[in-house]
Amino acid sequence: MIEVIETNSPEETEKLGRKLASEASPGQVFTLIGDLGVGKTVFTQGFADGLEIDEAICSPTFTIVQVYDTGRLPFYHFDVYRIGDIEEMDEIGYEDYIYGDGVSLIEWANLITDILPEHYTQVTIEKNLEKGFDYRKITIEQI
Ligand code: ADP
Ligand code: MG
Repeated sequence: MIEVIETNSPEETEKLGRKLASEASPGQVFTLIGDLGVGKTVFTQGFADGLEIDEAICSPTFTIVQVYDTGRLPFYHFDVYRIGDIEEMDEIGYEDYIYGDGVSLIEWANLITDILPEHYTQVTIEKNLEKGFDYRKITIEQI
């Protein structure tokens, strides 16, 4: 199943993140793929809001995963952009998160495809400058 949503402002992208998170169930894994500056953080902020997390979300660049426990469900926010070796995922005990009861969102998941679960929701954000500076094509696919 593939769904395509087009947005034309950061607010719309945030709103989509909020909606997907508000419908998320325990154990669900989302991957978030897209180039730098495309809107992954914007999406993630909406997503955290949709899980009713009040804290500000900051990118877990040096820790790989950041855990938020104050929302409707635990939220495991991964950013694997700087990962050097897949073993770093074992070191942080990624399985406890990804196969746990919270909701996982993995930015740059295309770098760790070997260890993704069998099923997940893949979110891809792309620009298309021909359609405007603020245009984003967001593809949601159930893997
Ligand atoms: P990333 O985390 O993918 O590197 P950010 O979310 O930090 O990207 O930045 C996205 C930038 O693009 C922000 O400055 C945001 O205001 C801008 N922007 C413009 N249009 C959109 C849109 N439709 N959706 C998301 N962000 C947008
Ligand atoms: Mg970001």
